[in-house]
Amino acid sequence: QDEHFKKVIAHAKEYGYIFPSSEIYDGLSAVYDYAQNGVELKKNIREYWWKAMVQIHGNIVGIDASIFMHPTTWKASGHVDAFNDPLIDNKDSKKRYRADVLVEDYVAKIEGKIEKEVAKAQKRFGASFDKEQFLATNARVVKYREQAEGILKRLGRSLEHEDLADVKALIEELEIADPETGSKNWTDVKQFNLMFGTKLGASADSAMDLYLRPETAQGIFVNFLNVQKTGRMKIPFGIAQTGKAFRNEIVARQFIFRQREFEQMEMQFFVRPNTQKEWYETWKENRLKWHLSLGLGPDNYRFHDHEKLAHYADAATDIEFRFPFGFKELEGIHSRTDFDLRNHEKYSGKKLQYFDPELNESYVPYVIETSIGLDRMFLAVFANSLREEELDNGTTRTVLRIPAVLAPAKAAVLPLVKKDGLPEVARKIVDELKWDFMVQYDDKDAVGRRYRRQDAAGTPFCITVDHQTLEDNTVTIRHRDTMEQQRVAIEEVRAIILKETDM
Ligand code: ATP
Repeated sequence: QDEHFKKVIAHAKEYGYIFPSSEIYDGLSAVYDYAQNGVELKKNIREYWWKAMVQIHGNIVGIDASIFMHPTTWKASGHVDAFNDPLIDNKDSKKRYRADVLVEDYVAKIEGKIEKEVAKAQKRFGASFDKEQFLATNARVVKYREQAEGILKRLGRSLEHEDLADVKALIEELEIADPETGSKNWTDVKQFNLMFGTKLGASADSAMDLYLRPETAQGIFVNFLNVQKTGRMKIPFGIAQTGKAFRNEIVARQFIFRQREFEQMEMQFFVRPNTQKEWYETWKENRLKWHLSLGLGPDNYRFHDHEKLAHYADAATDIEFRFPFGFKELEGIHSRTDFDLRNHEKYSGKKLQYFDPELNESYVPYVIETSIGLDRMFLAVFANSLREEELDNGTTRTVLRIPAVLAPAKAAVLPLVKKDGLPEVARKIVDELKWDFMVQYDDKDAVGRRYRRQDAAGTPFCITVDHQTLEDNTVTIRHRDTMEQQRVAIEEVRAIILKETDM
C-alpha cells in the first residue's frame, strides 16, 4: 500500500500532473501545484461535477462568490468560535499532530486487520462466502469491530464534550506512538483554530482583519436571497459553487489529500422545514450514483454515517473512498438545518426568509449540503487509475486508466516514422481534432515506446498514421485499456473518440 502510494506521488510528478509548490525553494509543506496534465484532469472533474449538479437540474444554479467575505460571516457561521482541531505535541520529537487523526489512524489499522481476515476467508470459501455473516459471527473479527467502534465512540464523545483530557487519556491507553519517531511522550491536547487570517486595507489603523474562507458554503448562504429573488427560484432549489478554500491544517504526509489551500465543489439545497430527512436521503443516493458512474469500482466506496455531529447538523454522512492509505472521507453530505441562515439573520439583522406561495407562509429554509474536495477526487481518480500490468508476453506496462471522460488528452496522433510525409498527415489530423478535444502530437522514439508513454500519461486513444494511410486514408486507433487496435477511416476518428470521451 505504502509502495503504491509512493508510486502515485512519483508518477504524478513524472507525467506532469502535480508538482510540489515552489519546488526550487524545496517546496512548501502541504501545498502543491497542478501541472500541464493535472490542470486538465482537475478541470474535467470540475466540469463533470458541474454538469451533474447544475446543468441537468432545472432547479440548481451556480455562483462564484469571493474568497474574502465580511468578517462577521465567520462569527455567524460558528467558525471563529468552533472551527478547531484538537492538537497534540510530542515532547521528544517536537512534532505536532491532530489528536483525533492519531486515534482514527489507529482505528484504520484495526480495520485493515478486519479486511485481511475477510480477504483470507473469501479465498478459502470462494463463491459461497457470506461477508455479512462472517463480519457478524467470526470471533476475532467481532472483537476487532467492537474495539474499533468503542474507540471511535469514546473519541466522538470526548470531542463533543470538549473533554480534551480524555482524548489524551485515550491516546495514552492505546499506547499510540509518534508515527515518525515512535515516542509516546505527549503533551496535553489543545484546540487550534484552522482559519487563516489576513488584513484588508493599507493603513495600519484602518486595516480590517479578514479570514481566507475555510469553506465555500458561506458564500452561498449570504447570497441565498439574492439568487432566490433574481432567479425567481421556488423551493426546493439549490445553489452550487466551486472554488478555493483555505485551512491551516496540521498535516500528515498524505499528498494532496489534506492541503492548506484546496478546492471545494459544494451545493446547498434549500428545502421546506421538516422535509430535510427525505432530501438528505435523496442526495446521499444521488451523490453515490455520481461516483459510481465513473467506474472506479463499487467496492471502493462506503458511507460513514456520523454519530458525532458538527454544530450545525442534524444528520451527516461521509462518502469514503479507498485511498492508498485506507478508507477516508471524499465527500460530506450534511443536513445543516436552518442553522446558517438563521445565524446570518441574527448577525446581519436582515430577514433571510422565503415566502412559500403553496403554504402561504414565510420561513427560513432548511439546507442539505453536498461538499466534495476537488483535490481529493483528483487523488481518488489518479491513485485508483495507476496500475502495473503484466502482459501476455511476460513484460509489464504502467498504465493510467483514468476514465476517458476525465482524461487530460483524449488522443495522441503518432506518425509511424518521421518521414515519407507521415508527420504532415498526422499534424493535419491533430489540426482537425483539436477543435473538439485535447489532442497531442508525438513523433519521438519507436511507436511501441510512444504507446507506453501515452498509457502512462493516461491518454485513452492513440491514432497511428502509417504508409497505408497514404494509400487509403485509414489509420489505426489503439485503445489504452485493451491495447486493441482497429483500422478506421480518418473521417471516422473524431466520432469514435467523442463517443467515448464526451461527458
Ligand atoms: P476532514 O475530516 O478530512 O478534515 P472535513 O470533515 O473537515 O474533512 P468538510 O469540512 O466536510 O471536511 O469539507 C468538505 C470536503 O472538502 C471534504 O469532504 C474534503 O473532500 C474536502 N476537504 C476538506 N479539507 C480539505 C483539505 N485540507 N485538503 C483537501 N480537501 C479538503
